[in-house]
Amino acid sequence: MDTRSKQHETIPFSRPSLTGEEFDYLKRVFEIGKFSGKGYFSKSCREWFAQHYGTSSVLMTPSCTHALEIAAMLTEVGSADEVILPSFTFTSTATAFVRCGASLVFVDIRPDTMNIDPEQIEKAITNRTKVIVTMDYAGVACDYDRINEIARAHGLTVVEDAAQALLCSYNGKWCGTLGDLGCLSFHETKNLHCGEGGALVTGNQAYFVRAEIIQEKGTDRSRFLRGEVDKYTWQDVGSSYELSEINGSILRCQLEQAKTIMDDRRRSWEIYQDLLTPLARNGQIGVPHVPQHCVHNGHIYYIKTRDKTDRDALIAFLKARGAQSTFHYVPLHSAPAGRRFGRFHGEDRWTTVESEKLLRLPLYYRMEEAHVVRVAEAVKEYYGYNRGHSSTLTPPVPQSAD
Ligand SMILES: *Cc1c(COP(=O)(O)O)cnc(C)c1O
Repeated sequence: MDTRSKQHETIPFSRPSLTGEEFDYLKRVFEIGKFSGKGYFSKSCREWFAQHYGTSSVLMTPSCTHALEIAAMLTEVGSADEVILPSFTFTSTATAFVRCGASLVFVDIRPDTMNIDPEQIEKAITNRTKVIVTMDYAGVACDYDRINEIARAHGLTVVEDAAQALLCSYNGKWCGTLGDLGCLSFHETKNLHCGEGGALVTGNQAYFVRAEIIQEKGTDRSRFLRGEVDKYTWQDVGSSYELSEINGSILRCQLEQAKTIMDDRRRSWEIYQDLLTPLARNGQIGVPHVPQHCVHNGHIYYIKTRDKTDRDALIAFLKARGAQSTFHYVPLHSAPAGRRFGRFHGEDRWTTVESEKLLRLPLYYRMEEAHVVRVAEAVKEYYGYNRGHSSTLTPPVPQSAD
């Protein structure tokens, strides 16, 4: 065997987390013989949240997208209303509200965290504004002190898309509990997963009661299951928004290992940050900024290149060095549906330029330290850092790995 092929084994961008015990948990579902929602494991996942987040107002859903849809329905936004949100986010943040007929008002982000800029929110408020939707990018919380202050002053509801922010915190409070309604994701690309899964969190009892009904096809089946009513009937609008026991068992297994998985990812994140900060000091790249009062979960490690051309050249260079890297998001306001369903308020000072600079490096549970180092060294090589701290930004010509 060619030893070079092992050394140059391609480092994937991402790998779904696995603890190795998922099968044992899944087997329990077959032993119990209940497969649909609101069974042993769904309850057990909620108990985990009660224990760790100190709230029992959590509903397990088939995805974060579905949790966002329930949240949008609870806010009762309609065609007369406007929803303020960042343009730098995943489509689900927007589609949940578009389904209700609302108009989207995109505002700019802050370049340091890539999160929505509260000052831009305030400027975009009209008498039609009903909801603010935030997204905690890379598991780093938005500025909720300011956002909630603005929301209170204008009587607006805050929906937090915390899809990336499981076990992240802001001023000692959990992400997902920072607005009126919070949505989490357990998609296989997230830190913990069950293939597809999500959760809705709310501290508002009226929302919780209604969410349980929406989740159960518009019926009060949840109350029936608790013995609070002797039969269940159609009460409200709704859909089928339950996490199945099959998915729930796998999620419960991973929740058991939550701390280990987060610590492992944060360790890789820190290695990247240590190795690449010198390039940032040189002014050659940007590295992530985590505000003092925020704790993140190592979900994403990104750097900022000079511009789109520099980024695309670096992606090709890393690929030739055997590492996959990627970027996101194409700003929603520039996408066909974004133009149709919304408008950008104010100046697009950062959203487009900063998203074009952003490059995500490989990061996953149990990523070998040597691989993290290899990727970071390849980035340094690209910028000529190891050749006398050259300040030139001209990329070397990519070489083939073979
Ligand atoms: C992953 C993600 C979602 C969607 O989560 P699903 O569970 O796949 O529906 C929504 N918003 C953001 C910001 C995400 O990163």
